[in-house]
Amino acid sequence: MIVLYIIPVFGQDDWITFYEKSDYKATPDYKKTIAYFKKLASASLWIEYTTFGESPQGRDLPLVVMDKNGNFNPAAIKRSGNAILFVEAGIHPGEIEGKDAMMLLMRDMAIFKKDTALLDHVSIVFIPIFNVDGHERSGPYNRINQNGPENMGWRTTAQNLNLNRDFLKADAPEMQAWLKLFNDWLPDFFMDIHTTDGADYQYPLTYQMEVNGNMDPGLTQWAEEVYLPEMTEKMEDAGFPVFQYVAFRTWFDPTSGLRNGVAGPRYSQGYVALQNRPGILVETHMLKSYKVRVESTYELYRITLEILNQNHRELKKLNHEADKHAESETFLNKAFPLNYNRSDEDSIMVDFRGVDYEIKKSDLTGGNWFIYDSTKPKDYKLPYFYKMEVSDSAILPLAYVLPPEWLDVAERLKLHGIKYYRLKKDAGIKVESLTFNDPSWRNRPFEGRFMMNNIEFETTEKEVDYPEGSLVIPVSQRTSRIIAHIFEPRGEDSFVRWGFFNAIFEQKEYAETYVMEKEARKMIKENPEMKAEFERWKKDNPRLANNQWVQLNWFYARSPWWDEKMNVYPVGRIVDEAVIKDLRGVL
Ligand SMILES: [Zn+2]
Repeated sequence: MIVLYIIPVFGQDDWITFYEKSDYKATPDYKKTIAYFKKLASASLWIEYTTFGESPQGRDLPLVVMDKNGNFNPAAIKRSGNAILFVEAGIHPGEIEGKDAMMLLMRDMAIFKKDTALLDHVSIVFIPIFNVDGHERSGPYNRINQNGPENMGWRTTAQNLNLNRDFLKADAPEMQAWLKLFNDWLPDFFMDIHTTDGADYQYPLTYQMEVNGNMDPGLTQWAEEVYLPEMTEKMEDAGFPVFQYVAFRTWFDPTSGLRNGVAGPRYSQGYVALQNRPGILVETHMLKSYKVRVESTYELYRITLEILNQNHRELKKLNHEADKHAESETFLNKAFPLNYNRSDEDSIMVDFRGVDYEIKKSDLTGGNWFIYDSTKPKDYKLPYFYKMEVSDSAILPLAYVLPPEWLDVAERLKLHGIKYYRLKKDAGIKVESLTFNDPSWRNRPFEGRFMMNNIEFETTEKEVDYPEGSLVIPVSQRTSRIIAHIFEPRGEDSFVRWGFFNAIFEQKEYAETYVMEKEARKMIKENPEMKAEFERWKKDNPRLANNQWVQLNWFYARSPWWDEKMNVYPVGRIVDEAVIKDLRGVL
């Protein structure tokens, strides 16, 4: 069979991008962006244009795959031995240099045949615009702190969700599509391109990698000893000095010192780290020109390809080992870190290329007015607070059990690539069961949900009846870190904290006061100590003295009519190996 490829003929000028034509000041809209990538795909056998989902406003989510062997699906690329670089632009569409930079790089490689050796052992999977609806809410007044492009998109989706808070809870349809895509590809390295807010300084680009305890140790070491030193040096040589994502202890004030952090699972690079893959958050500096921001991003792409191309075997091996470790017993038997605090005690001095500034007392507001002078670069020696301490941790169970009715949770497990079994028939299972005390919630919505802000619970071991279809989720699998963050209540993004289980905290049956007046007396007669206990409770809660209903509800809660499932976490923890063995017959 003869396969005939018809490749349209284009002249050199046909490939000038919208950004270049605008004198490096503007970025193309959704339609023009897609048209350009489609044109690249039609002209090059190395590029495929496809889509991976649909936005709430009905736009396709674009995806571009680049591979020199013409392999465009994960299995074929993995078979070829190539490493997969997964790049995401436009999660915050006002911060869009990632899109324009990759347009140039793919063109330069595919059409102008520049640096093509960079693709010898690496394939690129690229999302040009992740938040497509936000990208089309375009205007000159979307980001007040930022220096161009002329029109830029809006931070959140059409549903007003910030996708970079949604990686674990996955409420946005865009995020659900992303998770499926990520798990289909399981890339080797991840990049997420943003533009900062914050203070002025010299670096055109800053970055964060998860090297402070939440990523696999082998990958952490590789990031610290291979990727970061080489990337930093090459960026410097290319004229784009970089620094880690700058956060001052006092937001605007460099002399307050720099601080480090761990990104939780709601953030892109934090999530990817928990999926046992190294990822880098890239933040170009909002006060630099759009041209400098695009060019530094282009350079970072090129340099990252260089490093991956050189180290593709080692990185793939480390990723594989990280997966194996995440499903191993050594992983299970250690306390799993859920949240971190920064230590304010240990710091080291580091060089920081800032700019000169003065602080004026504002006669308008009385506040401190930081006036930076970007024409006066100034090198500082600053204390850097680098040490992170684990503030919450949990010894993980062997498995979690989730009753089948929690459909939206089960759906999320699938999206995260988590494997589970279903009970083939009803079963009584010995589990650790958690009952929450004093639950309370934030009084304003956050990302469309009301989060819990007080997580306290008691643990009891008991046999619980689970119906057929219940999900048994073994922790020993490559996604063990994600599983722990979903189910361990104390995690900052746990599903109970996000409100997935809010309904369990509602009292659904009540006693009429005339019924309970009688019943309470009966209860006291049977158990005289109850009276003293009741009086103590009344003394501790004086504001309830005139609330007959609440007082009688106190008795109702101690009666056999009380809802025994109220405040009880529906997720059970199986900690006993023998229980798992017994389950084999019903899984
Ligand atoms: Zn951003």
